[in-house]
Order: sequence, then C-alpha cells, then structure tokens
Amino acid sequence: MTSTTSSERSIAAAEQHSAHNYHPLPVVVATADGAWMTDVEGRRYLDMLAGYSALNFGHGNRRLIDAAKAQLERVTLTSRAFHHDRFADFCTELAALCGKEMVLPMNTGAEAVETAVKTARKWGYRVKGVPDGRAKIVVADNNFHGRTTTIVSFSTDEEARADFGPYTPGFEIVPYGDLAALEAAVDDDTVAVLLEPIQGEAGVLVPPPGYLAGVRELTRSRGVLFIADEIQSGLGRTGRTFACEHEDVVPDMYVLGKALGGGVVPVSAVVASHEILGVYRPGEHGSTFGGNPLACAVALEVIAMLRTGEYQQRAAELGDHLHRELGLLAGGGNVDAVRGRGLWAGVDINPALGTGRRISEKLMARGVLVKDTHGSTIRIAPPLVISKEDLDWGLERLGAVLA
Ligand SMILES: *Cc1c(COP(=O)(O)O)cnc(C)c1O
Repeated sequence: MTSTTSSERSIAAAEQHSAHNYHPLPVVVATADGAWMTDVEGRRYLDMLAGYSALNFGHGNRRLIDAAKAQLERVTLTSRAFHHDRFADFCTELAALCGKEMVLPMNTGAEAVETAVKTARKWGYRVKGVPDGRAKIVVADNNFHGRTTTIVSFSTDEEARADFGPYTPGFEIVPYGDLAALEAAVDDDTVAVLLEPIQGEAGVLVPPPGYLAGVRELTRSRGVLFIADEIQSGLGRTGRTFACEHEDVVPDMYVLGKALGGGVVPVSAVVASHEILGVYRPGEHGSTFGGNPLACAVALEVIAMLRTGEYQQRAAELGDHLHRELGLLAGGGNVDAVRGRGLWAGVDINPALGTGRRISEKLMARGVLVKDTHGSTIRIAPPLVISKEDLDWGLERLGAVLA
C-alpha cells in the first residue's frame, strides 16, 4: 500500500470530480494571512500572485474582514427588488473615486465587461445614432477580458476560443499598441474601443508611451467611447489608482473587478457618466447578486483604503524596487525581458531554462507561489501589503531558480 499525503489525496479527488479547466500548481492551501499562505501540511508559501490582483490588500486584511463580518450580521442580500442601506454609499463613493457620476454594479469581471459591451452598444444606438444592429467595438489582439461566449468571440487566444463558436459578431481586432491600426479600424458605426491599459494575461504588456493618450485623443475626436478594462491593472496595482493615470488619461468607462471585492467576495462594476449609464431603463440589464449588501460593505472599505493613497504609494515604491531587482536578474542572462509597472511584472525566462510552468514548480519547492502565462513568462504580482523583506526573500529565491 502506498502512503499518500493529505495534499495528494485532495489533488487526486479534485482531478476526478472537477472539470479540468485549470492546471493549478500542486499546493493545497488551508489558511492565509497577509502575503503568506499555509498548506494542509503546514508548509508556508509567499504569495507572489495575489489572486491575479484580487488580493491587492492581502489575505485576511483586518479592515476588510471586520467590514464583512459586521455586514454578515446585518443583511447580506436583498436583490435589487429593494433598496438597501449600503447601496447608495457604494455607488456614490465608487463614482467619486473614478471622477464619474454613475455606477452599474455586477459580480465578476466578465459580467462587468459584458455590461460595458451592452452599454456601449445601447449608447451607440440611443445617443450616437448608429443604425440598428450595426454597432462595432474595436479591441486589441492578445486581449483578456473574461470567459463568456461573447468575450471569447473577440479573443485571439485559440485555447480560450476554439470550439466555443458560433461567435458573437460586432468586434474588430487590431494590434495592441498600434495607434494607426486603431485609427484605420474606427468608422461611423464604431461605438467603443475596449482595451486593457496594461495587458495582464498576455504577460504584463505595457503599451508604447503615448498610446493610451493617443487612444483617448482619437476616441474623443471620433465620438467613440474609450472603455478601459482596469479589472487587473486598477485599484493600486501599478502605483496609481488606475493604470490610465500614467498617461493622464481618463477613459469614458472604467471596468472594475478583482480587488474591488477585497479578496473576500466577487464585486465588479462599470463606472461612467450620466450620459452613458443613463441609457438604462428598468428591466434592461441586471444581476441578482450585483450590488448586494455584503459586496457593497466590503467594496466601501476597499474604496476608503484606496482614498488614503497609501496602497498606491506602497505599490509605486516597492514596484521601483522590484523592477530594479528584476533588472539586475535580467543582466544574468537567463531572463529575456522584464515588463510591467508598479508591483506588477512579467518576466520572460530564457526558454532553455524551462517552461514558465517548470519555473513556477521550482519556485513552489522553495516556498514562493507565482503563475506562468504563455510559455516561458512568469507573472509577479504580490499583495500590495507585502513587506520589503518578504519581497526580497521571494526575489532571492527567484534568483536562485534562474541561476
Ligand atoms: C480577470 C480579468 C477579467 C475577468 O474577470 P473574472 O472575474 O475572472 O470574470 C477581465 N478582464 C481583465 C483585464 C482581467 O484581468
């Protein structure tokens, strides 16, 4: 009889009874605190992924857990059939954080992107005057906006897209970072340009300087909405509240998710002006859980924390340090490229050293958890509350694995 560990039994059962739509690292987490996670065997790991930025404020953040607990004891769900006493504050505060007027709350990122697509189309027909059924939205190649049928319709990632057709029409894909291609794609029926200000899943791709400002100028002059999917790049990650701020760009619509729920509950939203979100009438869009009291209570605390500016500052300072250190590693010859902004980096490993997956497994064996993306790239995005010492500890291990 072969003896198996608790981790191995858990992983085997998951393999048997859950769809294989993910390929997780073989770690079974039991508890977590701050930037650290502990597995079922009591091994500790530094979390350098932070739930793809859903955990910007760390695991078990006291303020967020307290806000959630207090709300759990009061009321958790009303549905939008009734008002509740956290809803107006949430919408008011989130709109203010974004410098906008209105909020449409949903739950997951993909739902918020769907909401942005529906909003842009409706705005196109009702406000811009695009002929019925002709609305076009321009997107970038290598985008990641979620997993719904419509969203994968405009993905260029075959893994995400193949076998899920027929695909939703109404989208045109142009190369990311290419302003001339975007300009050529925008026509009279174009209602929106939908972009990530930094492409996360694609490997933390930062567009060329001036691109976002150019997109803003182009969309403004052509009467087209600029929709910024800041689900992963927003809420402090890059050293600013929004990644668009690095080019002083204010989009027409922010799409938010991930960190908005504080790593506690899924919370997403579209935030825009009256002119844009004012297009909706009762019954035209919604979600049973969208804007629920628990979600609003946690998100309100997230917004209050962001208003202090301390998390953005941490991300900026630790981010400078991270990129300095990664630059030194890159000098060693086993790193082909380092990209990113703030506490967020994509590191292209020399493929001769192994796949991103293999590097991630080696890091796991040394107590550091990261996630690979696209072949030989690993992504580094620790919680913004990580200490400098812990960050250095993680980078030291990365250096050892790459040596
Ligand atoms: C994660 C992500 C999404 C999708 O969010 P889900 O909550 O997983 O549906 C959309 N856009 C971007 C940029 C993301 O990083």
